[in-house]
Amino acid sequence: MALKPIITPSDAVLRKKAHKVTSFDKKFQKLVDDMIETMLDAPGVGLAAPQVAVSQRLIVVQLQDDEESRAEYGDDAGVLYVLANPEIVKASDELVEGVEACLSIPGYFGKVERHEKVTIKALDRDGKPTRVKASGWLARVFQHEIDHLDGKLYIDIASDIWKARPQPVDGDVEIDSDSDDEDEDGDIVSAEEVNAAMNSQTSQD
Ligand SMILES: [Zn+2]
Repeated sequence: MALKPIITPSDAVLRKKAHKVTSFDKKFQKLVDDMIETMLDAPGVGLAAPQVAVSQRLIVVQLQDDEESRAEYGDDAGVLYVLANPEIVKASDELVEGVEACLSIPGYFGKVERHEKVTIKALDRDGKPTRVKASGWLARVFQHEIDHLDGKLYIDIASDIWKARPQPVDGDVEIDSDSDDEDEDGDIVSAEEVNAAMNSQTSQD
């Protein structure tokens, strides 16, 4: 297994509609393993193949498996999902607002409305048909990841986007006691500003 670099919006692959998975061969299995490793290392709770510059309709999702996560998400905590060609076949009318971030857009958060419940039809890593019913946070993660397969990012649909306060790089900066929480008091920015920031960040590399 190997870690794969996670791309930002400056890479065109992230904005492309991804191709259907048609082969579940050894190479595909390695991609699945690499994506799981990359997601856990980031760390993140979901990753779509276009985020590692592979234009395939493949997502991996795993909510954390710690005590807090189990208390909040119950049986959803820690379950690993590998879904190829996922399609939302049913979605609740009920929409819920929540805060999202994206491994491809580091340093930002956004408020996004999603379906509270979804049913997903997909193939598992062996190419066998599978169905997943999800609600709440897990349903949100699935919707976020499936959007990636169509080149869509949460910043396209977020009602607010804000920049996280920079993390202090040394001990000189005092850290707020609530700095672990989702940082809703950062500066509000526009999707255009985020795209511009992502592009300039890469060109400086
Ligand atoms: Zn994302």
